Amino acid sequence: MQKVVKMPKCSCCARNILPGEEAVSFPCPNCASVTIWRCATCRKFGRPYKCARCGFEGP
Ligand SMILES: [Zn+2]
Ligand SMILES: [Zn+2]
Repeated sequence: MQKVVKMPKCSCCARNILPGEEAVSFPCPNCASVTIWRCATCRKFGRPYKCARCGFEGP
């Protein structure tokens, strides 16, 4: 029997966030209805994120 874990995706590079990774999540500053995820790599390089719902881009 497999345990289904819903994995969040990085809003910058679209790869799956692995459990235990130093990723951050926060609601979109513009529409607040989408949770933005940033993986450890994107945090490190300060890549911009883009909201999937309203298209808001920010650091
Ligand atoms: Zn990323
Ligand atoms: Zn948004």
